[in-house]
Amino acid sequence: MDSIIIQERLVERLLSPRTQAQRSHPGKLKDHEKQYVGFATLPNQVHRKSVKKGFDFTLMVAGESGLGKSTLVNSLFLTDLYKDRKLLNAEERINQTVEIIKHTVDIEEKGVKLKLTIVDTPGFGDAVNNTECWKPITDYIDQQFEQYFRDESGLNRKNIQDNRVHCCLYFISPFGHGLRPVDVEFMKALHEKVNIVPLIAKADCLIPSEIRKLKERIREEIDKFGIKVYQFPECDSDEDEEFKQQDRELKESAPFAVIGSNTVVEAKGQRVRGRLYPWGIVEVENQAHCDFVKLRNMLIRTHMHDLKDVTCDVHYENYRAQCIQQMTSKLTQDNRIESPIPILPLPTPDTETEKLIKMKDEEVSTICACASWMLELESRESLQGCPIEVVLRLPLLCPPVGSWGGGQG
Ligand code: GDP
Repeated sequence: MDSIIIQERLVERLLSPRTQAQRSHPGKLKDHEKQYVGFATLPNQVHRKSVKKGFDFTLMVAGESGLGKSTLVNSLFLTDLYKDRKLLNAEERINQTVEIIKHTVDIEEKGVKLKLTIVDTPGFGDAVNNTECWKPITDYIDQQFEQYFRDESGLNRKNIQDNRVHCCLYFISPFGHGLRPVDVEFMKALHEKVNIVPLIAKADCLIPSEIRKLKERIREEIDKFGIKVYQFPECDSDEDEEFKQQDRELKESAPFAVIGSNTVVEAKGQRVRGRLYPWGIVEVENQAHCDFVKLRNMLIRTHMHDLKDVTCDVHYENYRAQCIQQMTSKLTQDNRIESPIPILPLPTPDTETEKLIKMKDEEVSTICACASWMLELESRESLQGCPIEVVLRLPLLCPPVGSWGGGQG
C-alpha cells in the first residue's frame, strides 16, 4: 500500500509543477491525474536529466582567411572566442600549413549549460598551392571518430567525451562567380564525414540581386558536382502553419548569406550589432540585410539536435561500419584479428599496482601448482584414506612455485 502512495507522489511531482495546495497535501492527487499510469512523464524525466548533464556541440569553421569566420562565430555566440589569436603576416602565411585550433567555452542560458567547441582551421586555402590542403581537416575528423570508436569499445563507457565534429560552416567568398575549385574539392572530401553548411561570407559586399544570383549558382554547382551538404529534415505534417512557413523560408535561403560584426552601433535609436559605413548601417540581425538570424536559429534553436543525430547516425555509423568491415576482412584473410585502429600504449601502472599484480600472479601460480599436485596425487591414489584436514591444508604444504614440474612427484 505504502509503495503505491510513493509511486503516486512521484507521478504527481513529475506530471506538473506543484501548487501550494498540493505541497501541503502531497498525498492527494487530482482526479484527472489518477487516470495516468505515469509514462506521460517520460519527456519530463529526459528533460531533467539532459539539463542536469548539460549539452555539448562542436562546430568547425573553414574557408580562406579574412572571410570573417572568427567575427561570425563571435557574433553567433556573443562571446570572444578568439582573444589569443595571432594574425600572421604574408611571409609567415606562405610557409604556413593548415592548422587545427580548438577553442572551448562553457556558456549558460536560463540554467541550461552548453559546452561549445569551435574547431578553427587557419591556413586553409591560403597557400599558393592548395593541393590536398583539406587533408589535415579530414584527418582531424577521422581522429575524433577513431577516438570515439575506441572509447565506445573500451571498458569504461560511462563518461565518454564526444569530440566528434557536428557541423562545419564552410565560408565561400562573395567576390567570385560561384564555387572555386578548392571549395568543390574541400566539400567533396568532407561531405561523407561531417554536416557541411555552406555560407556566403561578407554578404554586405553584394546587392540583393547579386546575392540571389550567387546563391542560385552555388546551388547548381553543388548539384552538378554531387556535393552532399547538410539536408534540413522534412517538416512534420502536424506542425502549425507558421512553423511550416519558417521551415520553407529556411530551406529556400540556403546557402545563407551572412554578415558578422563585433561592434554594437546605434541605428534608429536602438543599439544593434552591425557595421557602420559612411552611407549607412548594416545590421547583422536584420533579416532584410542578411541571413544571420536564419543561420543562428537553425544552428542553435531548431537543428542543433538534428546535426548531432546525423553526425552520430550517419557519419559516425559510416566510419564504424568501415572499421568493422576492415577488421572482419583482415580476420578472414589472416585468420587473426588485427585492429585497423592503432593500439594506444597502456598507461604504466604505479608501483603499488605493480606490487598487487605481482602478488596476484604469484597466488594464481600457487593455486595452479597445488591443483596439478593434487591431481597427480589423486591419480596415484595416494590420497586414499588420507584425513580430510591434510587434503584441505595441501596448498600450505605445497613446495614453492617453480619446483613443480609436469609428472614430477
Ligand atoms: P577570418 O580570418 O576568416 O577569421 O576573418 P576575420 O573574422 O578576422 O575578419 C577579417 C576582416 O573582415 C576583419 O576586418 C573583419 O572586421 C571583416 N569582416 C568580418 N565579417 C565581415 C562582414 O560580414 N562584412 C565585411 N564587410 N567585413 C567583415
